[in-house]
Amino acid sequence: MNKRPDDKWERKCWLCGRNGADDPLEEHHIFQGSNRNKSTMYDLTVYLCGKRCHREGKESVHRCRETRDKLMRWGQEKVMEEQGWSIDDFIRAFGKNYL
Ligand SMILES: [Zn+2]
Ligand SMILES: [Zn+2]
Repeated sequence: MNKRPDDKWERKCWLCGRNGADDPLEEHHIFQGSNRNKSTMYDLTVYLCGKRCHREGKESVHRCRETRDKLMRWGQEKVMEEQGWSIDDFIRAFGKNYL
């Protein structure tokens, strides 16, 4: 049995909820560039259908600004809640406010 049940055990796509059976899921760091390490540190990664939702689809995070913004807002809210951060705390860590 899985010792630590967490969301990621039951992997599904953050964007569309598919389980990756026909478009294998890939891990995406919500905040990129100089914040990539912090994305790892604060567990700010999500799974996405590799082609459809991650890299190639019209609404995939790497091709669609709106999807990217939505995901970064979601990530900011998640880490603020988990860490008990204010918006200022978030800006101190990630450099900018996405909300
Ligand atoms: Zn990615
Ligand atoms: Zn998907």
